[in-house]
Amino acid sequence: MYTTANQHYREKYGCKVYRLSLDGGFTCPNRDGTLGRGGCVFCAGDGSGAFAAERGLSIPEQLEQAKTLVREKNPDGKYIAYFQAFTNTYAPAPRLRELFSQAMEPEEIVGLSIGTRPDCLEPEKVAMLSRLNRVKPVTVELGLQTIHPESVSYIRRGYENEVYWTR
Ligand code: SF4
Repeated sequence: MYTTANQHYREKYGCKVYRLSLDGGFTCPNRDGTLGRGGCVFCAGDGSGAFAAERGLSIPEQLEQAKTLVREKNPDGKYIAYFQAFTNTYAPAPRLRELFSQAMEPEEIVGLSIGTRPDCLEPEKVAMLSRLNRVKPVTVELGLQTIHPESVSYIRRGYENEVYWTR
């Protein structure tokens, strides 16, 4: 027995909750040369941000653009601001706080979701996210692609699984 995210949000907010995919203008240590330039074997060149809004726009503009895509299906709905493209904690904590706060500001945004890597989640960023979590719910997605060390090398992810376990 389990509760899906969809059921949970319907029960909590009384409507369907859509994720709005945003692009915070980040890159990734596995693409900018810090750890490598080729990226993980499964990464599209867009940092897996194929559905994100245009990165040249501000966060409020991206929210509006993303909402227009689902507004017909979700005229009075609620949304989660989803930082999807590249590594979404790969910037100084004050810059992250600024971007995330902008995204959480509108009333219809009921939460924040962030996709990132465990080696880019330093304690001060965790503390900052914890503070934002008191304003609206914050979730952090850390993909564990494999538990096998040989596969970790093959996928060129740039960190060992121990980094994941310690976060
Ligand atoms: S960590 Fe993410 S953005 Fe970076 S190379 Fe891998 S899949 Fe792409």
